[in-house]
Amino acid sequence: MSISKFKALRTCEFCGKEFYAQKVSTRYCSKRCNELAYKQRRRQRQIIEAEARVLQKPIEDVKEKEFLSLNDTAVLMGISKRCVYDLIHNGILQAFKLTSRLTIVRKADIEIMFEGRVYTKKVKPERKPITEFYTTKEIQEKFGVSEAWVFKLAKEKKIPKVLHHGKTYWSKQHVDKHFAKHIENNSIVEWYSVQDMMEKFNMDHFCSLLLCVEVQHPEKED
Ligand SMILES: [Zn+2]
Repeated sequence: MSISKFKALRTCEFCGKEFYAQKVSTRYCSKRCNELAYKQRRRQRQIIEAEARVLQKPIEDVKEKEFLSLNDTAVLMGISKRCVYDLIHNGILQAFKLTSRLTIVRKADIEIMFEGRVYTKKVKPERKPITEFYTTKEIQEKFGVSEAWVFKLAKEKKIPKVLHHGKTYWSKQHVDKHFAKHIENNSIVEWYSVQDMMEKFNMDHFCSLLLCVEVQHPEKED
């Protein structure tokens, strides 16, 4: 089909009149409507550009101000208004809400905001290698606790351990810190595993579960 034979019923995008278009791309019924539509588009573009010029206040306009609107603040700092809101909301930049629709930022407060916020690369504290260890037995003897208790608290406190020839070695420093503290807090009460209780009190499994894991140490009662 040649272009000249193309005929389609269209509605003029400018005047709204129905017409037969000769080309696929035809949008207007006449040359006049085409020109008027072009002028209208140009005018609208000019309006948008003028509005944008008002919105994008040159920085010179706000440089000399002591009291700034949130817009001014954004212009002065060269950041978005959204960022200004965030700074205020997060308590980084001080602002003053004078009325429900008026929030003012003092230029001095922008200066203050920068103080003490110098970017420095965070240095990770150097980890000292663990060189001293306890065996499980040593902990049991030193703190007077059961083997199960050692494993339970070590797991709870995430005490570093190493396995060597099938034996567990615990970080001395960590054990001293956490076990000493725990014993202080639990001077009367000791912890038993179900297994411990079954052995110690000659119970069956069900009975020891009923009694729970925590019991008073009979030797420490007096
Ligand atoms: Zn028309």
